[in-house]
Amino acid sequence: MLDLYNKLEKIVNAKYISNDIYVRHAYSRNVDLVLQGVPDIVIRPKDAEEISEILKVANEENIAVIPRGAGICEFGGSKPIGDNGIVLDLKRMNKILNLDEENLIVTVEAGISWGKLNEYLCHYGLYTGCMGPGSGMSASIGGGISHHSVGGGGCAKYGACTNQLVSLEVVLPTGEIIETGSQANRFSKIPFNRFGNGPDLAGIFCGDNGIFGVKAKISLQVFPKPEFADYKTFLMPRKSAETAAQIMADIRNKGIDVYDAMFIPDVVIGVGSPQGLFPLWDHIKKKRGIFFYTIEANSEIELKEKTKQIDSIISNTKSEYLGPEISNGNIAKWHYKEQGHWQFYHNLWGMFPSMQPLTAECFCTINAFPEILRDIDQWDLEHNEDMQKIFNITKIRPISGSGPVVLIDGTNVEITAGFVSFWGYYEDEFHEIIEETNLKLWKSLLERLIKHGTQWYMMGDFMSRLMVDIGAYSAEFYNLMKSIKKRLDPKMILSRGKFNFWGEK
Ligand SMILES: Cc1cc2nc3c(=O)[nH]c(=O)nc-3n(C[C@H](O)[C@H](O)[C@H](O)COP(=O)(O)OP(=O)(O)OC[C@H]3O[C@@H](n4cnc5c(N)ncnc54)[C@H](O)[C@@H]3O)c2cc1C
Repeated sequence: MLDLYNKLEKIVNAKYISNDIYVRHAYSRNVDLVLQGVPDIVIRPKDAEEISEILKVANEENIAVIPRGAGICEFGGSKPIGDNGIVLDLKRMNKILNLDEENLIVTVEAGISWGKLNEYLCHYGLYTGCMGPGSGMSASIGGGISHHSVGGGGCAKYGACTNQLVSLEVVLPTGEIIETGSQANRFSKIPFNRFGNGPDLAGIFCGDNGIFGVKAKISLQVFPKPEFADYKTFLMPRKSAETAAQIMADIRNKGIDVYDAMFIPDVVIGVGSPQGLFPLWDHIKKKRGIFFYTIEANSEIELKEKTKQIDSIISNTKSEYLGPEISNGNIAKWHYKEQGHWQFYHNLWGMFPSMQPLTAECFCTINAFPEILRDIDQWDLEHNEDMQKIFNITKIRPISGSGPVVLIDGTNVEITAGFVSFWGYYEDEFHEIIEETNLKLWKSLLERLIKHGTQWYMMGDFMSRLMVDIGAYSAEFYNLMKSIKKRLDPKMILSRGKFNFWGEK
């Protein structure tokens, strides 16, 4: 290991490599506290060339390398699987390399956050359209592209962040550096188009969860931020999931161009309000579901017309308008005007001290989500015995359900589902019982949702292997993915173990 360390230290400055036990443990988890893998070494490259050298050494030594942006994967994707490997921390690569104002394309290093990039763009009246994930204040652009992230604002209008991708500079697992799209032509001076010059090779790195290559540079389309916007929040009638689904379907059927549309189920309002989840929810006494939308426009007339169209859909549903100000409970205004789109989920994650969200975030169609939400309630009833086991020890019963449901591309929504459960240290053998029961419950809920045909974008350690273990992939699809992996990464060093691609250890 010392030999490996010395070889790597020669590539980066000594300041940017560590095998210190505290550093290794700091990089051993992601946002979930459940899955852990302690790396041997943590290293922070400065560019594609250094990444390439690191990967060449890792191949010589046959050791796993795990790319990491901000490390906020919810399924353990940016830490090793097992205790070994090199964590490649990309947060040092956080520069904006070029803003092509004429062609509306920005080129950045992969480790920059959505927050930092958009803070820069707003000085030019621009934004990234899809604002990345809800964790965008720290989550990296490289992590977003590797996850197909969506949900941090603007996703009903712009879809997932990979829709805005123009070109990538990627370091392949064996160290070669390639560029995609317009940049596949060596004579092209600026990135301007993702498709063409042959097949869409950028596509295989989108949502790859870091298994096919390390993104070093990313070019994205950017958009002028429209001058006008309106945002309204409504308290829903009973059976709010069905009503919200109907509103979303009508929005799509009528071709109304919304920027965001979100449903927050009554369980989140009911449980969250007394916890002070959002102070502005104090106004919402009835604890029913909430629906909100944001619309953008280039003129007042356009805005009025669009708002009229969407309000006429909502007026048929007996929903109650909460008023224009944030203090009236207008979450939509807070979401759009006050960067609430990046704060919203943080409050959910930190709602109960010592409780750990074990999430099941996925995509499905608008018309499928009410049934899926009902089935999560049913799953809870069926697993009462295990839930009770945790209650008997901690006096806190896990809470399952769905958080916000967000309209994304086409007729799809993103569901933030799962359960929160006790996960602090608990004395003696009780700790193990809690740990085992939580993992069993998490697996069973994920399996249940996979069998609804849901689609997973953030897969990491846990989800990528579960899909394979329960036979969710067709043999033909999985074999093709495996043969691409073998061709690109013969020793399977990059993110070793994800999707059960282990290689020879
Ligand atoms: C409060 C909260 C809210 C969230 N909201 C959302 C949401 O709305 N939508 C959503 O999609 N997700 C959400 N997430 C999950 C997660 O934060 C995002 O998916 C985010 O995009 C991950 O970015 P990251 O930089 O933390 O990536 P990491 O966790 O560091 O990495 C993610 C994956 O990409 C790989 N990777 C990272 N960088 C690179 C690179 N440069 N090259 C190759 N592979 C790389 C890693 O190996 C890993 O597999 C949320 C999480 C939290 C805690």
